[in-house]
Amino acid sequence: MVSDMIKKPVITLAAGPVQGYPEVLQAMAQPLGYDYDPSFLAFYEEVAKKCATAMRVKDPALIIQAEPAVAIEAAAASLISRQDVVLNLASGVYGKGFGYWSARHHKEMIEIEVPYNEAILPDAVEQAFKERPDISIVSMVHHDTPSGTINPLVEIGKIVEKHGALLLVDAVSSFGGMDVHPGDCHADVFITGPGKCLGGTPGVTFMAISEAAWAHMEANPDSPRASILSLLDWKNAWRRTEPFPFTPSVAEISGLSAAIDLYLAEGPEAVWRRHALTAKACRAGVRAMGVELWAASEAIASPSTTSIRVPDGLTDSRIIETVRNDYGVMLSIGRGETLGKLLRIGHMGPTAEPIYAVVAVAALGGALSKLGFSADPAAGVAAAMAVINDAVA
Ligand SMILES: *Cc1c(COP(=O)(O)O)cnc(C)c1O
Repeated sequence: MVSDMIKKPVITLAAGPVQGYPEVLQAMAQPLGYDYDPSFLAFYEEVAKKCATAMRVKDPALIIQAEPAVAIEAAAASLISRQDVVLNLASGVYGKGFGYWSARHHKEMIEIEVPYNEAILPDAVEQAFKERPDISIVSMVHHDTPSGTINPLVEIGKIVEKHGALLLVDAVSSFGGMDVHPGDCHADVFITGPGKCLGGTPGVTFMAISEAAWAHMEANPDSPRASILSLLDWKNAWRRTEPFPFTPSVAEISGLSAAIDLYLAEGPEAVWRRHALTAKACRAGVRAMGVELWAASEAIASPSTTSIRVPDGLTDSRIIETVRNDYGVMLSIGRGETLGKLLRIGHMGPTAEPIYAVVAVAALGGALSKLGFSADPAAGVAAAMAVINDAVA
């Protein structure tokens, strides 16, 4: 009913999924070809190769026809066997979640957990291997989005590689928004999707999988087959000569293709630069208003999400409501453990534009002032602008 309709926000600066780029949405609005038409089979192969180009890996990407949460569960189910000792690194809600999935399959799990405003220390991983040389798989999240913090993936990857274990990485909300690739961090299973920094939609996933990880899955008698959780079923589906195990979503593949095209055409370095600058301007603006960042240090604050601590005496829901009602800006609250403790401003894909940091800071500052927190929105805006002006000077 029209009377029940809630007015849409003017601008969404949420921590994902994002509003897709117009080119992505246009690509998805094309008539849906038949998935076994030779033209689609060729297109699918091309998209798998294009995803590999973006990830800077040799083999065509594995595309999974589901949102990343399903694909991550599929990766855990496919890779982790009853013989595996898993080291799970939890610095946030998603990292902790890996452990729950792992529990259904592993022999044993060891977990390193840090407070959700901190990052995993490489030394702790080194120490874990010292105590337990039988660790065979390490699972981790690069950017734990409900915290807005980044783990030192490259350093940890080196340690995992040195000890001959397999590294399973969720890079869903960092890939495309910063310099991270499967090869640089020695990831054996590297999972990402177009719905965050690539400005696509959240219904599809693509991955890079090493030969060692495929071999591990093939040797795992419990690795699912003829199942939505099977990675092995899809291993060769990128080849135009091979059948699909299930029907791929033609529209999602078109959208993914457009998102990767945009990323490669703009130039990855340029895309990362605007994510980093937007986040930097946002952090400067927030701090200048006397608002505390959630991340324990700026060095681990994500370039694709800025998380702030909810000021004492206020609630996340009142702030987010006021920002939306008064200014038409939609932000994100926390999830799970971080719910109620923080607010998140997303800088992903189309919203990773520095001027949106000014919008976010102004709206947040205005709402905080209204709710009785002595924020100075003008100082926040000036600080965010100063960062941007420095960069364009
Ligand atoms: C968004 C996201 C996912 C995927 O979640 P969906 O519910 O499938 O969209 C997984 N991991 C991280 C770190 C994410 O940010």
